[in-house]
Amino acid sequence: MSYKVSCVSIDLINADKPPASLAFMAGACESAEVDYQCFSLNSMLAEYTSKSQYNQLYSDVKLEQLHKSFSIIEPVILNIIDQIRKFNTELILVSVFSYMQKNLSEFFLTKIKNICPDIEILAGGPGVGATVQGKTIGKHLAEQSLLDFYCLGEGDEILVNFLKGNKQQLGLNSKTDSYESWVPQIDNLDQCSVIPSYKKIKLNEYHNLEAKNSAVFSLSTSRGCVRACSFCDIGKIWKKFRFRSGAHVVSEILKHHREVGAVHFTIVDSLINGSLKSFREFNSEMVKLKSKYSSLQDFSYNGMFIVRNRQSHPEQLFADMSAAGCDSLAIGVETGSDRLRYDMNKKFTNEDLDYHLEMCQKYKIRNFFLTFVGYATETREDFEQTLLMLERYQKYLLDDTIVGINHSGIFGLLPDTPTYDHRAEIGIEIIDDADATKINWINHNNPTLTIKERILRDLEFRKKALELRYPIPYATRYLEYLSKINPDFVPQSD
Ligand code: SF4
Repeated sequence: MSYKVSCVSIDLINADKPPASLAFMAGACESAEVDYQCFSLNSMLAEYTSKSQYNQLYSDVKLEQLHKSFSIIEPVILNIIDQIRKFNTELILVSVFSYMQKNLSEFFLTKIKNICPDIEILAGGPGVGATVQGKTIGKHLAEQSLLDFYCLGEGDEILVNFLKGNKQQLGLNSKTDSYESWVPQIDNLDQCSVIPSYKKIKLNEYHNLEAKNSAVFSLSTSRGCVRACSFCDIGKIWKKFRFRSGAHVVSEILKHHREVGAVHFTIVDSLINGSLKSFREFNSEMVKLKSKYSSLQDFSYNGMFIVRNRQSHPEQLFADMSAAGCDSLAIGVETGSDRLRYDMNKKFTNEDLDYHLEMCQKYKIRNFFLTFVGYATETREDFEQTLLMLERYQKYLLDDTIVGINHSGIFGLLPDTPTYDHRAEIGIEIIDDADATKINWINHNNPTLTIKERILRDLEFRKKALELRYPIPYATRYLEYLSKINPDFVPQSD
């Protein structure tokens, strides 16, 4: 192993589990047989800053006001750079988690290029391919000479080939290229040469939210989605839904179990049950593996799950999930209104949701609801139905069938989503195009849903959920963020 590589993930989210992107880059290094080390900027920030500093940083990143937090992040970045230099790094692989990390990436890469101008940098990840002001973030960074190469699309083959010396590949763009190319989507994920590795990731930096007694590891079993929800940009990121066979996924679980003692997993896909055939196979292979390895008796998994009707999800599916170790599901409920959910193209009803919760109660599978308020066509009546839904399902809090609500606040009009693309037909006018928060718009066909009204509904939702004792993680952080957009948005009383 002569080549020396430092892998860095830029991923300001929650420092609860080792990032999948870091394990992916590590796996690519192992596949190419080069020497490497790993850093997660997020986990180091969480470790070296206080909770209030971290919350401030989170808001500043979201609001594109990173300059306010330079003094917080600079020492952490300098620490990483110091370790990169001591390692005699020849190449830095950077993964950018999302478009929100653009400024953080710029800050980090500027520091690196100033201190170590001769180290080559290759960046990838969803954030690099995201479009900002008509250009990919990769292009923005390359034009500032902050990186040497960037990969658009899946990095599996590109990364390994690059590490073996091939710098001319479709999807691999350099700062001198005038035109960008994208990696064609991989059809057979079972044949990918990169299997993630956690061997060199410091696991004690992570504090999982699932209250497990050992680290929770990320696992990717598919790419893309079988749905096309109106507010989601997944269809632009992945043109086709592709998945691994259940047996292939289970062989990766065994690898991580043998290498780092992994027992608990989060499946980081957009959904774990996109292919029912593969999902069923995964559950049945896991049951077999558990019967062979007593050390996997406590195996658990969780992930995002789409609700379907009882014909598509018969009771046996829930029984098999439970036997395999399904611990919890995050389900995109979004709203309590069937009418509004139909507008969002979610393709399930409250009746399907009732059935789903009954089954989960029976087989002891916990659920996190994913919700938001203020979708462009939400009426007061739709919103009332969301509040009623909280009352209707409160009974499921008692036995942990519902364990919390990941409430993302008010609807943001993200570029590359069906709602954004059809905004003129819907009647939406963007008030401030440069608005980093994507919340400043008005629907002329639903004019009473002003931004103020949306925020008031958000607060009303949170208040009701708290009265009914639904846990809502990160509520304080979100309210701090809202008040930074405009202090008038958050009323000072109750
Ligand atoms: S919101 Fe979830 S289910 Fe809907 S398209 Fe996006 S990833 Fe798929």
